[in-house]
Order: sequence, then C-alpha cells, then structure tokens
Amino acid sequence: MEGKRKLHAVALFGGTFDPVHFGHLRMALELKEVLGVDEMRMLPSHRPAHRETPGVSGAHRREMLAIALQGCRELQLDERELRRGGDTFTVDTLEELRAEMGPRVSLSFCMGLDSLLTLPSWHRWERLLELAHLVVVTRPGWQLPHRHSGPGSEEVAGLLERHAGDIHDLLSEPGGRLVVREQTMLPISATRIRQLVRDGRSPRFLLPAAVLQYIEDKQLYTGAGGSAGQI
Ligand code: ATP
Repeated sequence: MEGKRKLHAVALFGGTFDPVHFGHLRMALELKEVLGVDEMRMLPSHRPAHRETPGVSGAHRREMLAIALQGCRELQLDERELRRGGDTFTVDTLEELRAEMGPRVSLSFCMGLDSLLTLPSWHRWERLLELAHLVVVTRPGWQLPHRHSGPGSEEVAGLLERHAGDIHDLLSEPGGRLVVREQTMLPISATRIRQLVRDGRSPRFLLPAAVLQYIEDKQLYTGAGGSAGQI
C-alpha cells in the first residue's frame, strides 16, 4: 500500500445468526484483524432470498447478537436489514451504506465460498462490486471455481479474473476488488445447535453462555416458542 492513502474501512459479516455462535464470532474477529479494517459489523439478514426463512424472529436473532456482543469493542451490530424488513437483498444494503458513507470509504462484504458460488443468482449481482469489495473466505485447501466447473462457474471465474485483488487494496480503494482469504473455521453450525436443542441435548460451549440462557428463557428452537415472524 506504499504511497496510497488509507481510507476509513468498514467490513460487513452477514448471516442469519439463527443463533449466533462462536464460529461466527471468531471468524468476524479474525477477519477484522487480518483485513486491518476499522469496523467489523455483524449484519443479521431479515429474510434471505437464498435459504430457508430463519427459524426464529428477527427480534430474537438481533437480541442474541446484542447479548453476544456485549462488552466486545471489536465487533458492532448493524440492524439495517432487520429494520428494512421484507426480502433481504445485499445490493440494497450496500447501496444504502454507500449513500450514507460517501465514495471515499472502503466497504467490504465478507462471504463464504459457498455464497460466492451462488453469486450469479443474487439480485443485481453485477452491481455488488461497483459498491464494495467482496472478501471470500475459504477453508484451507479448498479449490476455487474455474470455468466449466459447474453452474455459474463461468461468471464466477470471470469475476475472479477481472476483480482479483490483494488484501492491501481493501484499505486503499473504496470497492471493486475480490479478495480470497484462507481461514480456518471452528466446526460449529447453527443447524447443529438447533438440532441439539430440539433433541433436548446441550449446545453449551458452542455459543456464549448468555446466548444459551436467552434460548432457554425464551424456549427457542424447542418447537414450543419463538416462532418466525416480523421483528
Ligand atoms: P446454518 O447452520 O443455519 O446454515 P450457519 O451457522 O452456517 O447457519 P449463517 O448465519 O448462515 O450460520 O452464517 C453466517 C456467516 O457465517 C456465513 O458467511 C457463513 O459462511 C459463516 N459461518 C457459519 N459457520 C461458521 C463457522 N463455524 N466458522 C466461520 N464462519 C462461519
């Protein structure tokens, strides 16, 4: 980044967080540190277009995130997608943030490799890299898609060729780079946590104790309470 000015840099870690767990929190924190961004925001989606509607309401998912982030200076909660309601399209969120922050702030949207592979089916996906950088997290040893490796691979391989950047570009340019980052993930998933609770088993030590307490108090994921719905 020699000779280039560092911009104020904001990164976003999106998800359903149904519920938030240590896998999400560790990954967000490690990314904040390796990318060198000024802010890392946890961005709960309202109703993601590419997966099942979350099992519990946005209000519960937001509350669990707020509890998990209590006293944590490194990570912030950005509630805009829950406030906006309806179907969640990342492009709308990035348009909103870009309008708020202006053209001279670096904006990075973090996603897993699985999400990158579905990118060509996202609403107005070609606009995303005009608004922000994309940081794609892969597990060590995973293969990036190449042309002819499956549906959508042509477009994704093209994006990788046109937008490939290195980590320093994220801080010196406002958007437009696709950076791939190998990062080890804790073997935790929200699906497994929901399953454990449903089966009457304990998910303790997979997520913050205070979040587990909230789940127990509100009887979430047991099938008894915490129905899906608007926030
Ligand atoms: P589910 O099991 O319901 O699919 P999840 O645990 O994968 O949920 P999401 O809310 O879908 O969580 O994921 C939000 C983001 O966190 C995604 O970018 C996903 O790739 C990432 N992520 C999920 N689990 C982990 C983990 N164990 N370590 C690091 N990142 C994770």
